[in-house]
Amino acid sequence: MSRLAFGVDVGGTFAKIAAVTRAGKVLRKDEIPTDPHAGPADFTDRLCAVLGSWRRRGLRAEALGFAVAGDVDHERGRLRLTPNLPGWPGYPFRDALRRRLRLPTVMENDANAAVWGAYAVELGRRPRSLIGVTLGTGVGGGIVVDGRLQRGATGTAGEIGHTRVAWPGEPCRCGSRGCLEAYAGTYGILRLARRLLRAGPGRGRVLRRLCPNLKALTPKVLRTAADQGDPLAAEVWERTGTMLGLGLADAVMLVNPEALLLLGGVSRAGDWLLRPVRRVFRERPFGTALRAVSLRCAADPDGGCVGAALLAWEETCL
Ligand SMILES: [Zn+2]
Repeated sequence: MSRLAFGVDVGGTFAKIAAVTRAGKVLRKDEIPTDPHAGPADFTDRLCAVLGSWRRRGLRAEALGFAVAGDVDHERGRLRLTPNLPGWPGYPFRDALRRRLRLPTVMENDANAAVWGAYAVELGRRPRSLIGVTLGTGVGGGIVVDGRLQRGATGTAGEIGHTRVAWPGEPCRCGSRGCLEAYAGTYGILRLARRLLRAGPGRGRVLRRLCPNLKALTPKVLRTAADQGDPLAAEVWERTGTMLGLGLADAVMLVNPEALLLLGGVSRAGDWLLRPVRRVFRERPFGTALRAVSLRCAADPDGGCVGAALLAWEETCL
């Protein structure tokens, strides 16, 4: 039997769970509803039930990585704040899981975990420096310098989603305005799309045909509409990619990484996002770092479980 670690990636709706080998291969996976309103203790019970049943079937892990969206206090193993999981901040997840499962446990921000997963498995740890940006409901990020994940003084390093790209700007879920997330997170993208649709009743014909109920609009539908030649959908991606480019350019100027990797569901928009980002980079006169960086979308945009497992392993067992 291979040596294993368990990885958990808790999103607002579902939590993904995986048993991962040292090489980052997923041997078993499952998903449970997050059901945040039932509270963190209830979630911990349900997670321990799944991992307990895996163990009884012979999956013996050496560590557990627990990744959650929000401001994670890595040192104390709990959440400081999070927009999706009301009532969860302050709950001692790491200690509760460590005690219940008798496993070395590491708690990490979900974007850091996803970036580490992609860095270790997809990129084979080759670039020494990298910025990874997760594009989903929220926008998160992780920074690798000299082959190590950078956490900063409070574990908050890499929170690119809440760096500012506009003033005063659109409202962000964090309570501020003008954050990158308010433009490049799913809710920012859909807000723009609905606004353009309202302003131009004759526009977005393909989009309206693909999605007659605009409440059900998703980035995936916007990508399909753009692929099928809808100019309004293309404009949404152009404007989203431009704001993303502004945020990414600032991050690249600060860190000067070798690679820039986009992850998360929205990164599946691929060239619709990459083209405007590259244009923003080209337009900067002082562009040494921006021209040197290798920019691309991850092949597996959802490596949060794998990254959480590998990080836990490296920090507790190796
Ligand atoms: Zn914000």
